[in-house]
Amino acid sequence: MPDPAAKPVRTIALMNQKGGVGKTTTTVNLGAAIARLGRRVLIVDLDPQAHATLHLGASAAPDRPTVYDLLLDPTVPLSDVVRPVNGGLWLVPAETDLAAAETELADASDRRARLRSALEAAQGDYDYILIDCPPSLGLLTINGLSAAREVFIPMQAHFLALQGVSKLLETVGLVAGAANPRLRVTGVILCMHDANTMHSREVVDDLEAFFDAARTQEPPPPWKGARVYRPAIRRNIKLAECPSFGQTIFDYAPGCPGAADYLELAEHIVAEWDEMLGRLGVSVPEAGSRPREAPLPAPLPPIVTVAPIDSRRAEAGA
Ligand code: ADP
Ligand code: MG
Repeated sequence: MPDPAAKPVRTIALMNQKGGVGKTTTTVNLGAAIARLGRRVLIVDLDPQAHATLHLGASAAPDRPTVYDLLLDPTVPLSDVVRPVNGGLWLVPAETDLAAAETELADASDRRARLRSALEAAQGDYDYILIDCPPSLGLLTINGLSAAREVFIPMQAHFLALQGVSKLLETVGLVAGAANPRLRVTGVILCMHDANTMHSREVVDDLEAFFDAARTQEPPPPWKGARVYRPAIRRNIKLAECPSFGQTIFDYAPGCPGAADYLELAEHIVAEWDEMLGRLGVSVPEAGSRPREAPLPAPLPPIVTVAPIDSRRAEAGA
């Protein structure tokens, strides 16, 4: 039974097919930061490595269902899988058995949309859903992209990372074209950032030039309007330490630069969404007064092909 007072949920896939770029660190700590700002956050661990689950101190519980059960068996209710973490933060945990889901789902006609269907039950219960995608462009990531409305790309500002972004955007474009036309890339989150090197500044300039060029591109690609988020998340050893304690940075070292960066980023991300809801006439402060279905911007037409970043820049005369 729909709840007419439910708030619209902002569903974001954190995606990058490269491992070790900061996806899980960002999902967990940005999620915790958004929860500290009074929003209800559900983290979905979609990576068979289960790093987000471990980071949140939710160890495997043999008889409890996980995201694997949610994907494999559409009769498993989301509420059976969600575990409360702490104030304002909930988790759909993963275990290593999730790796088998890609092959076990291969013949299912709705294999790309299993997560999307499962999360439909979350409408109204959360303000944000953050999906920690695995470091691949396989079926699990496609489930994340089909379920999400937005994509955040955590990355490190290295030249080679730009090539990876091009491949990643191609996948986003394909999923948007085939299954989820409202999918948008909202922005890049710079992780383990060292703002003082010439190299990282050049990479950030390149990325911004690429996103700027997309503003006038026809047909508009799903990354039209995407930006490089500020602040960048500085390299901070406390962020690397806290997963082994099963704690977010706000529990482990709330005064460190890593906590400050994620909190400031969360303030920005929450403010931009509140502003968007405000523009659409959805009142933000009173939870009970929001309509269930807030009007959302019109979908963009799907894109067809994606040239690599370098050739786009060449075309644009950059
Ligand atoms: P991914 O999920 O993309 O594979 P992780 O979030 O697991 O990447 O990050 C890779 C490694 O880098 C982890 O050991 C993590 O603790 C560490 N790390 C992530 N962000 C930072 C940071 N800002 N400063 C220092 N270490 C970081
Ligand atoms: Mg990870």
